[in-house]
Amino acid sequence: MLNLKMFINGDWVNSSTNEVIQSINPANMNVIAEFPRGTKEDINTAVLAAREAFNSTEWREMVYAERGRLLLRMADLIKENKEELAKLETEDMGKPLSQAMIDVDVAARYFEYFGGAADKILGETIPINSDILDYTVREPFGVTAHIVPWNYPLQMTARSLAPALASGNTTVIKPAEDTSITTLRLAELSQEAGFPTGVINVVTGYGAEAGSALSSNPNIDHITFTGSVPTGSQVMKNAAENIKSLTLELGGKSPNIVFEDADLEEAAQWAVKTLIQNSGQTCTASTRLIIENSVKDSFLDRVNEIMDNVTIGPGLENPDMGPIVSEKQIKNLDDYMVVAKEEGCKILRGGKRKENMSSNLFFEPTIIEPPSEKSRLAQEELFGPVVSIFSFGSKEEALYLANSTEYGLVTGIWTKNIDKALWLAHRVRSGQVFINNYGAAGGVEMPFGGQGKSGFGREKGLESLKHYTQVKNIAIKINK
Ligand code: NAD
Repeated sequence: MLNLKMFINGDWVNSSTNEVIQSINPANMNVIAEFPRGTKEDINTAVLAAREAFNSTEWREMVYAERGRLLLRMADLIKENKEELAKLETEDMGKPLSQAMIDVDVAARYFEYFGGAADKILGETIPINSDILDYTVREPFGVTAHIVPWNYPLQMTARSLAPALASGNTTVIKPAEDTSITTLRLAELSQEAGFPTGVINVVTGYGAEAGSALSSNPNIDHITFTGSVPTGSQVMKNAAENIKSLTLELGGKSPNIVFEDADLEEAAQWAVKTLIQNSGQTCTASTRLIIENSVKDSFLDRVNEIMDNVTIGPGLENPDMGPIVSEKQIKNLDDYMVVAKEEGCKILRGGKRKENMSSNLFFEPTIIEPPSEKSRLAQEELFGPVVSIFSFGSKEEALYLANSTEYGLVTGIWTKNIDKALWLAHRVRSGQVFINNYGAAGGVEMPFGGQGKSGFGREKGLESLKHYTQVKNIAIKINK
């Protein structure tokens, strides 16, 4: 078992109370690590360390290209430690090893991408008149707070940490209590990369304690939160108290729309792939399959056949699907299956835990047909391998169904008719649209974020740098 400490001001420390939290491998329920249960006091110490680092000449006056090189070094170290990081992630979170390997690659790619951008964060000159030279600079906020969920611990940490650092902020990270191991390992690698003391701090702990203390700390300058809608709403209230800027990356109930003229084999493969990835514990999972009436039955038959071949088992054995992360999360799925029956949903496949496995946390791939798009099973994010089925007769009906939840994260559209595809793409409430693909292979380069209750602000791509910087306008009078 690993005995881990958290990383504050360049030191590896216990919590102020010396209390710990245990990390459990969901594939076999073994305790694999203990790490500190961080407190409000620990958060205060970390925020002060980050503030001091932000004000230090070492960080503030570092040549921007040199700052970028630190991120590139970080990318290299992540790649060098790929197998170890992936194994830790799989044991901690449960996901198949092959998916954890991809997560490590993507984490490295964030540091590479934003490392390259560190000396390209440009301002503008603004024409006013010949007497005034007016220009803007993009400045870092100062101390950025990063609250991270458990489903992609390494990727989500890197996704916000890399652009925050590239922009010149200093950081305090609060990983999820279920999965803190790889974030702590990342902090260790940042020491090796040579980041100055206090630029990166990690406080582990529970959301209601350490997370809440971080989001309500008056000495932070910006919060980036990835997680559920209720917690996001709470974080937003905390941010409002102290007038802090905020990026919210919340949940989704993403529609995947299949027309009869699509490459149906490709669409069926992706419908399954994007549902079972990380056992459905992905904010962008395609959890509403909206199929044109004429091909509904045959398409579902094919989806069922593909699901027949999905392998399920401990992540280290590299199946298609690993366990659900915790008893709390799988119990949530159990409860939704009760709701499904009460609502009169047809459970076409699965709907229960898989028996005789190495732990009790495996859930079967599940297909549900709700009686209405207003059903809870059609509206709410379950965070498991459960897809709800709908059908349509016209593109207008497909659009209505796609837009019938409060979420708006991503949308898949499958058709060979570009007019239909673009008609829909421009009308769906969605931060991203994928036409004849789903996910575009991760897309570190593409702006990502939600509309509606999926949140606001953007991560990924150069767009995200706007959310880690603030614009300052400077006007100079030219005397003649
Ligand atoms: P969660 O909201 O329970 O927790 C997220 C983080 O917030 C954790 O670190 C947790 O400790 C912390 N937290 C909990 N209570 C807090 C509080 N009162 N104050 C401050 N912090 C608190 O979410 P989760 O269950 O860990 O993650 C799943 C959710 O995340 C899903 O809804 C999923 O869709 C969403 N998600 C969104 C994206 C995205 O980019 N849009 C990516 C991954 C996950």
